[in-house]
Order: sequence, then C-alpha cells, then structure tokens
Amino acid sequence: MAFRKKFAPRRKFCRFCADKDLPLNYKRTDILRDFITERGKIVARRITGTCAKHQRLLTTEIKRARQMALLFYTTAHSSDVKKKTTI
Ligand SMILES: [Zn+2]
Repeated sequence: MAFRKKFAPRRKFCRFCADKDLPLNYKRTDILRDFITERGKIVARRITGTCAKHQRLLTTEIKRARQMALLFYTTAHSSDVKKKTTI
C-alpha cells in the first residue's frame, strides 16, 4: 500500500464562474462564509477551486466584510458576531 487516496478526485470549479448570478459581495456573508474556515481564515484557491480572478475579488470582499463587522477576524469574536448577521 504505497498510495492511498484520501478522497476521490472531484473536478473543482469556480462557483462564481459556474453561477453568474451568485453575488460576490461583502453583504452576502452567507456565501463568503463558505470560503473561510471555522477560524476565520480565507480558504486557499487550490482547495476551493475558485479561479484567480474571483479569488482576488473574494479576498477583497471578505476583508471588507470583516471591516464592517459582518465577518470575524478570529474565532474569539465569532460568537458575538453571529447574533448580528442575519440576512
Ligand atoms: Zn471564477
């Protein structure tokens, strides 16, 4: 047993390219939340499959959302933030 695949290879794709109507906006934290870890880190492109163009925009929007206190920077703030973010 030299190699064992951890999970079946699945074609990754950019969610924003696939669905043109999917808004990439700091107000849509429900969508942005899919691209950050539980600890508030932005998930790398190679993991999510987001294309370079959209990853760049995504990063900006996530940072903007953090600034507006719609998202959290670290887990330390998350419980406080969750109550306020209802869209
Ligand atoms: Zn894209």
